[in-house]
Amino acid sequence: MDIFCKIINKEIPAEIIYEDREILAFKDIHPAAPVHILIIPKKHIESVNVLADKDADLVGKMILTAKKIAQDLQISEKGYKLLIRTGEDGGQEVPHLHLHLIGGARLYEEIRPV
Ligand code: AMP
Repeated sequence: MDIFCKIINKEIPAEIIYEDREILAFKDIHPAAPVHILIIPKKHIESVNVLADKDADLVGKMILTAKKIAQDLQISEKGYKLLIRTGEDGGQEVPHLHLHLIGGARLYEEIRPV
């Protein structure tokens, strides 16, 4: 079982920001910025690569959840980043789909090959 499924099952702790039937949002354990929250589906989906058409509403809900959290944390006006890493070249470490919400400071933009 991946580490995010363990957080969903409350087998390991996390600082939960939002939870409903389908979605869980919690603070990233190694924040890259003042606000760094991970929004995940409770259903185990390994990555964007295995998303199906029937998951479209769920993915939409992940983004809308990020929007609401950003509003609640009052970072909407200044802006933020939403990031989904996918697979080895994308730098994905945890094999459970997750949307990073990163903000609270002006962020460097560095996307380049290793
Ligand atoms: P990624 O590289 O996109 O797969 O991102 C994985 C993220 O999960 C990293 O930013 C980690 O800091 C974060 N992470 C790993 N384990 C935990 C945990 N137990 N609780 C919260 N965040 C975690």
